[in-house]
Amino acid sequence: MKLLLQAVCILLCILPLSSACSMINRKTDSQKDTYSTEFFAMNTVMYIEAAGEDSEEAVLAGCEKIYELEAMLSRTDPKSEISKLNAEAGVREVTVSEETFQLLNNAVLVCQDTGGAFDITIAPIMDLWGFSGSEYRVPEAEEIAETLGVVDYNGLVLDPTDFGVLFAGKGMSVDLGAIAKGYASDCVLEIMKGFDIDSALINLGGNVCVYGRKSSGEGFRVAIADPTHPTTYAGILEVSDLSIITSGGYERYFEEDGKRYIHIMDPKTGKPAESDLLSVSIVGPDGIRCDALSTALFVMGKEAAIEYWRDHRDFGCILVVSETEVLASRDLEGVFTVTEGKTLQFFD
Ligand code: AMP
Ligand code: MG
Repeated sequence: MKLLLQAVCILLCILPLSSACSMINRKTDSQKDTYSTEFFAMNTVMYIEAAGEDSEEAVLAGCEKIYELEAMLSRTDPKSEISKLNAEAGVREVTVSEETFQLLNNAVLVCQDTGGAFDITIAPIMDLWGFSGSEYRVPEAEEIAETLGVVDYNGLVLDPTDFGVLFAGKGMSVDLGAIAKGYASDCVLEIMKGFDIDSALINLGGNVCVYGRKSSGEGFRVAIADPTHPTTYAGILEVSDLSIITSGGYERYFEEDGKRYIHIMDPKTGKPAESDLLSVSIVGPDGIRCDALSTALFVMGKEAAIEYWRDHRDFGCILVVSETEVLASRDLEGVFTVTEGKTLQFFD
């Protein structure tokens, strides 16, 4: 008998574990065809669930892919392709795997299309503010100005003939933190679809991807975290076969002298983005695009984010503006609702 996943309501905020944990696998007796696992990877808690004949094999294969990607893309593991590439910045061209090359290439296209609001060469700025580790600090203006000199995606030269990557200058480095989880969810889903499964739910630290529908035919119910009270939610999306990816300052920040410094940077200033948005959620078929755009549109701010949506319209967009005010693109009308006490306005 084929069982579909039950209704799922996932908060897009999972409390991070303090240290790497082993996998927690679950297979409930009442739902023999449903298998799930929770584990720690890419600095966050991840959860993968599938329903169907091969649910266990599918979930474990997906999980394996996450670990493979982590080993490939990590900026802290000196053995990763990205670390090796960063180490040769301004020195020589490095040949990377086709997968890493395509990922960099896709990322650069978003950098160009967002006018640099999204910039994967932001890494030195992340280091400067201490976001690459946990020793946060507010740098001096001169340090920021100097570091910004090596932040420019145009300085990343990609040669498709041999998957060669060359940084124009020393000190440059890439940080794929803004797209890695979205890309990972695309890869995991692709692998899982190769098995006999009816539905799947992939939640990589709040970046959610849902596949298939419940037996009732309804879509999954995915909650959008409330940035002002991140353990509760601001609204619910009822969707299927889509990724839902959120960026917001509330996800990671430090405070000094009463001021909050968030982990999403404005590449133009080298400082945490002074966005007039509390969070941006992007809904679409490609996790990688949703992830990149959630970060980029957060940096852009309300007006430019709406303009960007108007110019593209190939994704849905939820903008949490304040504790009570939520905006969403018109395509989400009928599938997105907000919780009591909040107002929702659609834009065209
Ligand atoms: P996300 O949670 O997807 O918005 O990604 C945030 C992460 O992306 C940060 O922790 C940094 O690693 C990286 N990042 C921060 N600001 C930017 C930016 N403007 N463009 C690209 N990546 C960024
Ligand atoms: Mg992102």
